[in-house]
Amino acid sequence: MGKIISFLRRSTFVLIAGLAFSNSLFSNASFAQTVTAKSTVSLSKNSKLVQSQAGFYRMTIGDINVTALSDGTVGLQILDGLLLNVKSGEVEKLLDYNYQKSPIDASINAFLVQLNGKLILIDAGSAELVGPTANKLPDTLRSVGVQPEQITDIFLTHIHPDHSGGLMEGDKKVFPKAIVHVDKREVDYWFDKAIAEKAAEPLKTFFSQVDTKVKPYRDSGQLKTFEGATQFFPGLRSQPTYGHTPGHSLYVLESGGEKLVFCGDLVHVDAVQFDDPSVCIKFDSDPEKAAEQRKKTFADAAKHRYLLAFAHVSFPGVGHVRKEGDHYRWIPVEYMNDALKQQSQGESNVQTNEKQEAISLLQSLQTTDPKPLDYINPNKYIQHNLNVATGLQGLKELFSRIPK
Ligand SMILES: [Zn+2]
Repeated sequence: MGKIISFLRRSTFVLIAGLAFSNSLFSNASFAQTVTAKSTVSLSKNSKLVQSQAGFYRMTIGDINVTALSDGTVGLQILDGLLLNVKSGEVEKLLDYNYQKSPIDASINAFLVQLNGKLILIDAGSAELVGPTANKLPDTLRSVGVQPEQITDIFLTHIHPDHSGGLMEGDKKVFPKAIVHVDKREVDYWFDKAIAEKAAEPLKTFFSQVDTKVKPYRDSGQLKTFEGATQFFPGLRSQPTYGHTPGHSLYVLESGGEKLVFCGDLVHVDAVQFDDPSVCIKFDSDPEKAAEQRKKTFADAAKHRYLLAFAHVSFPGVGHVRKEGDHYRWIPVEYMNDALKQQSQGESNVQTNEKQEAISLLQSLQTTDPKPLDYINPNKYIQHNLNVATGLQGLKELFSRIPK
């Protein structure tokens, strides 16, 4: 078993689901079944890489540690009417200008904030709801040394599947100790069965996720609502930006004269909406209001020169906006990697991360199976590394790769 673990920790993309272990953290790989047949939400199907990608970016706001966490990406076909209020040929032109093609790969970003002993998440990822190129948030979190079980608070910008889907993995809470905070208007809307019944796509699909992903937290008293602008902790407050959804909220983080505003879904397509903030998306509940909020936020951030963080702008999704005439330009945050001097007691950050990864893998291998831990049932073995097959053949291949 030790050999398997040490092999696995070197190969983070190898996810073993349901070996002989009934409660594997990796057991829910079925994504398509959860989306209704007539869904207009397109799921991502193609991973270009067969190995893991760097999925976190650390920074500080004053003396507060903030880490951007990648949940992966989602393919968005944006040339077939998904974007609203566009001029003829505008999207094609801006995509070409930005060296992009439809479908674009929109990032799904969440953020970890370490504030006064709290481990806070801004948004919770998508779980299996948008396809196999996402659902990486729990592993990304572990790779920065934080177990999902340690998260104390989650602030949802809104209740769309790519922000709240990650709260549950099957029927298990991914963040069992967390209080989930969200604007009351958001809960009133998404839990309203009368509205849900009348909803057309894509809203219909969004409503269908609420009972499985958010309701379990409400049932256990872990869903806490607030009304409008609210101060939660010193340095962290909400700012209502109703439009994209009825209760869509920004979260403002301030410390030591620095400011970062988590903007959720004020932007979906960075190649288009900074240049033309009037462009909206079919996912907007109220496109006109959503555009208004986007313009207001851009103008204020450009004027006061603070940082914005977006859920769908290319990872890490943090940067400034600059006003240029009636357009805006996105300036991604300057890359910093000055953490090497923080090594202590001869252990590098890489070693620490590998150790934490091995520990979390071991924790995921808990089983009530009476057979020894190194027993693996080939019929229950699913291989996610594209270079290795599933089943008995894949198992043999896996064992042949384990370092001697
Ligand atoms: Zn979103």
